[in-house]
Amino acid sequence: MQRSVFTVDVEEWFHILDVPSTPPLTAWAGLPSRVEASFRSMLDVFAEKRVRTTLFFLAWVAERYPHLVREALAGGHEVASHGYAHQLVYTQDRATFLADITKAKDIIEQAAGTAVRGYRAPGFSVTKATPWFFDAVAEAGHAYDSSIFPGERGHGGLPGAKAVPHIVPTEHGRLVEFPISLASMCGKPMYFFGGGYLRFFPYSLIRSKAKAVLAEQRPVVFYLHPREVDPGHPRLAMGAKRRFMTYHNLRSTMPKMRRLLGDLPMATFGELMDAGIAGTSPAKA
Ligand SMILES: [Zn+2]
Repeated sequence: MQRSVFTVDVEEWFHILDVPSTPPLTAWAGLPSRVEASFRSMLDVFAEKRVRTTLFFLAWVAERYPHLVREALAGGHEVASHGYAHQLVYTQDRATFLADITKAKDIIEQAAGTAVRGYRAPGFSVTKATPWFFDAVAEAGHAYDSSIFPGERGHGGLPGAKAVPHIVPTEHGRLVEFPISLASMCGKPMYFFGGGYLRFFPYSLIRSKAKAVLAEQRPVVFYLHPREVDPGHPRLAMGAKRRFMTYHNLRSTMPKMRRLLGDLPMATFGELMDAGIAGTSPAKA
């Protein structure tokens, strides 16, 4: 049976992109931290449901809370990288981006004591303006990526990109891409399986759209953030539309997550790689 992947981008409540009120990196250490409690509440549910997940740690978080990386591994989860400074990819040049993800991989591997295979970009911010993206991710030593949103999106998005897991050849070797899973609604590609979308749509719709993706032999890629299971976290100032997408229905996240973890078979990206999904097994190279 086709398995899905439940992923978490492990970052703080203030790691929100593309709003003027987002504090700069130099201010982060002085802000109240919520990630330990909120992330642990997710780990508790994963343990209760006996589900292994892929956890993309922001290396800034892994550097301060290396025990969270170790707790994740002890729970049987896969630890991957979300970069260090949480900047949109398309606002960086290749050298700056490569330095960020190389530093991040090193910090997370030191905390984990094991190799990091996967990377996810902040905000899925890979666009036509970043043609060097895959090559840089491979050059930093990653085996797979899950940063492509194959449709229109506020920040980023690659309309027309392949929507199934596939191999991307690069000058630094092959990379496996696990794109975000879009499903169709009224003939239009839409996303139902993470962040504000998952909090907005009713559970029955999310599940039926997930089943439709699985019927096409595609894994459903779910994503959440620890702040989304922490309704009491401080809010950043932003416009009404972003505020809605960022903060609506936070109390629905945990109940929906529990139901999804009970209803659908899950695996980590690493497990899908090792199983050779879509011909991606390194053994077939
Ligand atoms: Zn992020």
